[in-house]
Amino acid sequence: MNCPRCDHDAIETIATSPVKGAWEVYQCETCFYSWRSTETPHVDDVFKLNDEKIANLQVIPAVPPLEA
Ligand SMILES: [Zn+2]
Repeated sequence: MNCPRCDHDAIETIATSPVKGAWEVYQCETCFYSWRSTETPHVDDVFKLNDEKIANLQVIPAVPPLEA
């Protein structure tokens, strides 16, 4: 299984349904995108990430300068 947003294959199962086998929630260990097994995730090309984009992501909200 590959991440729909960054295409990495390190995917963790972070939750499972109380009814066995009904659904699972997966999360990408690289970009933290998550999705449920019952959906077909689609990420538009403009929102896809690669290693270079991840390394240069902005910190939101920006950390303000220290007060003097
Ligand atoms: Zn990812």
